[in-house]
Parts: sequence; structure tokens; C-alpha cells
Amino acid sequence: NTNAPRLPSYLKTSIPTGVSFNKIKKDLRGLGLHTVCEEARCPNIGDCWGGKGGSTPEENKRAATATIMLMGDTCTRGCRFCSVKTSKTPPPLDPHEPENTSEAISRWGLGYIVLTSVDRDDLADSGAHHFAETIQKIKQKAPQILVEALTGDMAGNLDHVSVIAKSGLDVYAHNIETVEALTPFVRDRRATFRQSLRVLERAKKDGVRVTKTSIMLGVGETEGQVMDALRELRKVDVDVVTFGQYMRPTKKHMKVDRYVEPAEFDRWQHIAEDMGFLYVASGPLVRSSYKAGEYFIENVLR
Ligand code: SF4
Ligand code: SF4
Repeated sequence: NTNAPRLPSYLKTSIPTGVSFNKIKKDLRGLGLHTVCEEARCPNIGDCWGGKGGSTPEENKRAATATIMLMGDTCTRGCRFCSVKTSKTPPPLDPHEPENTSEAISRWGLGYIVLTSVDRDDLADSGAHHFAETIQKIKQKAPQILVEALTGDMAGNLDHVSVIAKSGLDVYAHNIETVEALTPFVRDRRATFRQSLRVLERAKKDGVRVTKTSIMLGVGETEGQVMDALRELRKVDVDVVTFGQYMRPTKKHMKVDRYVEPAEFDRWQHIAEDMGFLYVASGPLVRSSYKAGEYFIENVLR
């Protein structure tokens, strides 16, 4: 595509290696589990799984984060930025997944785990009980692991949001992905900006300690639209927001409108902090779960 802007050098990263990386990879294969880190070819995989940023190997381990995908690799939705496979009728859930996943996770020694899933509009509860059961089992086996659930919008059913919000997790994340005006062009048509706000609002009302969302920049949003989105998020008490650069996974996906300069990401960081968000991560390579473990070591565990 000759119209697409060229990839700036600060978006290129190195290939990861290391002990925990390979161990996690092997276990995942054995369990038939998927990670967003790999599926989305996330550029931060070495940093996240390897857990950098601590001052001792033990601290690094606690800072390590991985994002595990539950409920298979096939989504019932088709967002225009996302490379996950789509089908109206994905395979049935694996009833052993909550037990097997929690068992593996409890042995890795990570300090922080993000559980996410494809959207399962084919299931009556959107998979809420399966999700909640996995969280409860992790907390039983390894109570020291902080658990973030990054969920879909549960097709707007707030009772299903509550099933997950009350499962014992530490962080409830749901991504708005983009500003309200671009939502119909970026996300699957079943997703709406308002519905996503209601999901985040319900989780907070259910007493979740931290709620969190992410916005991709570079898809065509204006500054005013981003400001409006941030105001709406603060109105429903969202605690954490992250900003990252949209990267087109393949040529079948929507185009990158522009590469946002690091200085502009810094500006959003300060604006959001001034608006009262508890924590903001903003940068070209920042993803929803980027260095989440590190943040919690600094701000919650200590
Ligand atoms: Fe995985 Fe998220 Fe880290 Fe990317 S930022 S490697 S998706 S945990
Ligand atoms: Fe991807 Fe959209 Fe499905 Fe999430 S809901 S996995 S972003 S297609």
C-alpha cells in the first residue's frame, strides 16, 4: 500500500528470549491456550513476559505479565482493527479450561495476569460464568497473583458484567478502543461507545478496586473527540486509561490514519493525569496490558 505512512524506527522492537518466556510458551501449547501477546504480535512480549524494570530477579518475576485468551481463538465479532479469526459459530467452550488455566498460571510465578477472551455472542451469558470460574480458581490456588479481566461488552447485559466483576478480580478492564464518532467504523457494529461506558460503570459500582480502558490513536480521531471520550470515562469513575498507536495487522484491516509522535502521547499522558485518572500509560508501543505488573508493584503491592 503506497498511501500508508512509513513505520517510524521507534516502533521496531527486538525478538524475545529467556526462561519464563519459553516455559510459558510451552505450557500454553500443551493446554491449547492462546495469548493476545502472540496472536496480536504485540511488540512488547519480551518486556512483559520477561518482567523487566525490577531491581532483582525476584522483582522482575513479580512484574511479569502475560495476557491469556480464554474461550478459544475464534470471535463472533469482527472489529476492523483486529486480527482474531471470526465465525458465527465458534467451537464450544472447553469445560476444563478454568481448571487447567488456573493450574498453569499458578505455577508460572508471575505477579500479574491479564485474562481476556474473544467475544462469544453465541453463548447465553457471553461466557461470563466461564470467565468468573477461571478467576476464582486462580485466586484459590495463588492468592498473591493480581488478576485483571479484560472483557468484551457482554452484549450489554450488565448482570453478566457483575458475574465477572464480583469474582474476586483486582482490575476490570474493558476497552472503548476509539472515540465515540469513530466507533461504528472501527469496532464491530454490535459494540457501541455508550454500552462500553455502562460496562465500566457497572464494574465500578460492583466495588471493583480498579477499572481500566484503552484508546488507540492514529485511526482518524480529533483532539476534541479524545477530550470528550476522557470526560465521559471520568464521569463513570474509570481509574486507568492507556493510549497506544494503532498498527494495522494486515492489509485487510483498516488503514493507519497517521503515526502519532511520542511528544503527542506525552501530552495525552499529562492531560489525562490532570483530569484525575489514577494511572495513565501513553506511548506508541503501549498496549492495554503494557507493564501492568510493574505498575501494581509500585502502587499496590508496596
Ligand atoms: Fe502481552 Fe499486553 Fe504485554 Fe503485549 S502489552 S506483550 S499483549 S501483556
Ligand atoms: Fe477482536 Fe473485536 Fe473480537 Fe475483540 S470483539 S477479539 S477486538 S474482533
